[in-house]
Amino acid sequence: MTDIVVIGAGAVGLPSAYFLAQEGMQVTVVDMEPAPAQGSFKAAIGGIRATHSEPAKIALCKDSLKIFSTWKEKTGTEIGWKMGGYCFPVYREQDESLLKGMFPIQHKYGLKIDWLDTDGIKKVIPGINGDGLRGGTLSIEDGQASPLLFASSLTEECKKLGVEFRLEESVEQVLMKSNRVVGVKTDKGIISADYVLNAAGSRASQIASTVNVPVPVSPDSHEAGISMPVSQFLDPLVVDIRPGPEGKTANFYFGQTHDGSVIFCYTPSPIIPGEDRRGTSQFLPIIAKRLLDLIPRFKHLVIRRLWRGLYPMTPDGLPIIGEVPNVSGFYIAAGLCGQGFMMGPGIARNMAHHIARGTPHLETYLFDALSPQRDFYAKKEALK
Ligand SMILES: Cc1cc2nc3c(=O)[nH]c(=O)nc-3n(C[C@H](O)[C@H](O)[C@H](O)COP(=O)(O)OP(=O)(O)OC[C@H]3O[C@@H](n4cnc5c(N)ncnc54)[C@H](O)[C@@H]3O)c2cc1C
Repeated sequence: MTDIVVIGAGAVGLPSAYFLAQEGMQVTVVDMEPAPAQGSFKAAIGGIRATHSEPAKIALCKDSLKIFSTWKEKTGTEIGWKMGGYCFPVYREQDESLLKGMFPIQHKYGLKIDWLDTDGIKKVIPGINGDGLRGGTLSIEDGQASPLLFASSLTEECKKLGVEFRLEESVEQVLMKSNRVVGVKTDKGIISADYVLNAAGSRASQIASTVNVPVPVSPDSHEAGISMPVSQFLDPLVVDIRPGPEGKTANFYFGQTHDGSVIFCYTPSPIIPGEDRRGTSQFLPIIAKRLLDLIPRFKHLVIRRLWRGLYPMTPDGLPIIGEVPNVSGFYIAAGLCGQGFMMGPGIARNMAHHIARGTPHLETYLFDALSPQRDFYAKKEALK
């Protein structure tokens, strides 16, 4: 018997276990993989921004930024935190309007984001291609951290708080008695619990379907890579939201990590639905061309490693967070799309507060937009 079973030691499950244990709960984490963070968590390139257009996501990511930026001070562990900001260089009028159109809501929620002219962008992104550059946005309080270092540190902190990890164990069924959750059945036995948190990432729908709850999360595949380290020259995470001329990329983004490596990925066009995590031979030539067109000096980079992971997508691009209707004690934190690393800690702290004390740590109304009961087809998050 445990207080709560967290299904999935991923970008949201692992920090949830940490904050739930900090709330004094006895936590058991079950993951099908032999180690934590082997799903999409370790595939993330580490970008963390609060500069979204949906108030709930802004609030959650502001909370995450607090957690990432103070983590080393609190735990003494290096997680590669770098407050270099996020920069969107702009070459098209429509992108300028889209990004400037989000300023009112971003400023209303206290985010430091501004428009820089061409010279300003050239200073922030040294060596950027100036042809047709109109300027761009810079949000100085955003940043990045290492998903690998953060996952490892979180695991250690969880262990110190007494969290039990049951690895190489697969949850097959959520167990209920009279509309109340009573535990889970795994391929190794039954774990009784007062609460269950479904943080199973791209598999969250299958888990929820075992108690007949429809949860629209479906994965698509994304590739990424990292170079050998070079001298620090680039502060922000850079996002180029133009589709590529080759017709295969919707946008691409990259940054320089705390140790000098350049880390990068693109959004394929069209998206590649499914759970395929095998790397392709297409990715490197395409991303290399996009990186060199934007910053010609990247021709000197030596690429060290490529990988592929999944975005657990929802129809409206917003995560699904809260207690599942009609199944008391069954919570969900899933559908984090391409932003689960940045939202994970904020969601986790709020979820833990909600489960242990009855209300999230942020204002409750913010969470209505993320409710498992919302209309998933009513709107779409800008830049989802
Ligand atoms: C190439 C790439 C780059 C990215 N870059 C960024 C970025 O810069 N910033 C950002 O914020 N996000 C980024 N992301 C997105 C981010 O990685 C995901 O949003 C996030 O990992 C999703 O977190 P999750 O906890 O929902 O899922 P996961 O991290 O996948 O965790 C789910 C866990 O559940 C386990 N599980 C599933 N089913 C079961 C079961 N039945 N029983 C037991 N265990 C189970 C899995 O093994 C897994 O460990 C990127 C993703 C990719 C692929």
